[in-house]
Amino acid sequence: MACAIVAAVAQVAVAQARPVKPAPAPATAPLPPPRPPELAPRPRPPDGPGAAAPAVDPAAFAACLKDFADRGGEAAAPKPTDKPTDKPADMAGACAIPAPVTFARLRLFDGSVVTLDSAVTVRCSLAVELVTWIRDDLTAIARRHGAALAQLTGVGGHACRPRNGQAGAPISEHASGNAFDMRALKLADRRVIELTDPDAATKSLRDEVKTSACARFTTVLGPGADSAHASHLHVDLRERRGGFRMCQWNVD
Ligand SMILES: [Zn+2]
Repeated sequence: MACAIVAAVAQVAVAQARPVKPAPAPATAPLPPPRPPELAPRPRPPDGPGAAAPAVDPAAFAACLKDFADRGGEAAAPKPTDKPTDKPADMAGACAIPAPVTFARLRLFDGSVVTLDSAVTVRCSLAVELVTWIRDDLTAIARRHGAALAQLTGVGGHACRPRNGQAGAPISEHASGNAFDMRALKLADRRVIELTDPDAATKSLRDEVKTSACARFTTVLGPGADSAHASHLHVDLRERRGGFRMCQWNVD
């Protein structure tokens, strides 16, 4: 009897110690075919889904800055610019400059320097066009008229405002750093060429400035365009449908 009990206990112990067999796997459905590569999950962009694409490609901006420097431009420390938050709500966000460059001088091939009478901040693509215009066109025009170009005066770049500063008008190209203003050229012989003043002595020089500006910029506004441009010259690189350009400057 005792043996039977021992045997029964032993059987229970063996049964408890027996490893539990895993349940047989159910008949499995065939695996789905691998996804074609174009449908494979793509890595998320660094800022996560829905993040706005950066307005400026850093590599393109770096290339633009190099181009600016190669053409003689000397970038300066950024200048404080108008803050969109200082402006009406409908202008918020419209006053940021993509790829801004601040500059007040450029160096010519012969090592001499042309300055602006104050630093301006504009987008890099415009900065490149401006230094090229000054270096290649304005200096040549000045020399043809007897002196080296020394300075551009009455200059302006970024400004967070509607067109011509009129409330309710469309946003100015100045707000996005795509426009430049100037009033006069100073030559090395101390002559000052007021670009918008009627003057027979400087008319041919100013005609040449107009021709060169209208060839380079998509907008050129001076006297005759409207009252806001009676006393300064405005140039910008606004893109219009059909490549339309505005060249409105009566040189008297
Ligand atoms: Zn302007």
